[in-house]
Amino acid sequence: MSHVKTITKDTSPIQTQQAPSGMIVHLQRFSTEDGPGIRTTVFFKGCPLRCLWCHNPESIATGPQIQWLENKCIGCGTCIKTCQLGCLTKSEQGIVIDRKVCTNCGDCAETCPANAMELLGKRVSVDELLDELTKDQTYYEKSGGGVTLSGGEPMMQPDFAAALLSRLKEKGINTALDTCGVCSTKALEEVLPHTDIVLFDLKEADPEKHYNFTGHDNQKVFDNLFHVRDYILNQAPQKMLWIRTPLIPEATATSENILSLGMFIANNLKGVVQRWELCAFNNLCRDKYRRLGIAWQYDNTPLMTRAAIQELEQCAKLSGVDPRIVIATGATRITD
Ligand code: SF4
Ligand code: SF4
Repeated sequence: MSHVKTITKDTSPIQTQQAPSGMIVHLQRFSTEDGPGIRTTVFFKGCPLRCLWCHNPESIATGPQIQWLENKCIGCGTCIKTCQLGCLTKSEQGIVIDRKVCTNCGDCAETCPANAMELLGKRVSVDELLDELTKDQTYYEKSGGGVTLSGGEPMMQPDFAAALLSRLKEKGINTALDTCGVCSTKALEEVLPHTDIVLFDLKEADPEKHYNFTGHDNQKVFDNLFHVRDYILNQAPQKMLWIRTPLIPEATATSENILSLGMFIANNLKGVVQRWELCAFNNLCRDKYRRLGIAWQYDNTPLMTRAAIQELEQCAKLSGVDPRIVIATGATRITD
């Protein structure tokens, strides 16, 4: 994980009028999971959905959030003295943050000598980010990779996303947008011209289940997917569209859901979508939840078995889509 320097301390929610600067959480360099080749993924802060299984909880809130890193803490107590609001106390488990009072001002992170208090979320300018992202341009070119905007939801900061993607394109860098599809169509129109690849999430076919799993029904998701499809067909046939479906135990990972989504893709996106990724649930994010003081209902859920993933992959391949576009990704356990 690589961090970019903070240019201003900003604890306010996202301000889309202040482009070209935006709120991001971190950069993931040498990523091979967010589009083709070797990529740098920029994780944006803020998401309109509340997926029960979210693997990036630090990206959900629009503003910065403080977290305490146990493995770095030397127990000096400087943070406790720094906090003017008295939010911090020491317990047997370590530093405890009273999140009802904490304003996420970041003062404790600035004084911590061990970087054990960390403010997640930084406002950065397009220029500053560009300096970081172009460092790996050689890797992008050699591997057929580039830069992917993810999050959170990049489309919550469309001015910033469009400005960043446009500057990357000027430098000849391949660009990808990873979106949950819940955004205004106007925002999509602003960003699509600067995007080479759209990684579009289709999580759940049933609207009521989609609402229960994410807090939104899926009408806007389908509307925006049709918009992306029509844009590619009519204006930009060289652009690529990948569909991504998270396989979540006792939620989206059912043969019924995969068959329904597959039939939708076969009936509506034929010839436009190059890849349908089935992304296996992972529990690597459980420490992120603990550090943010958020309970996670999947805390004790194991990885899915290889057999379960293969069964769903088979459903996808029999749903009517071109079987060659179906790819299962992510870690699995070998036995039950
Ligand atoms: S972020 Fe600010 S308010 Fe919160 S614990 Fe640190 S110093 Fe206190
Ligand atoms: S200032 Fe940093 S190292 Fe010291 S107790 Fe607080 S979190 Fe731990």
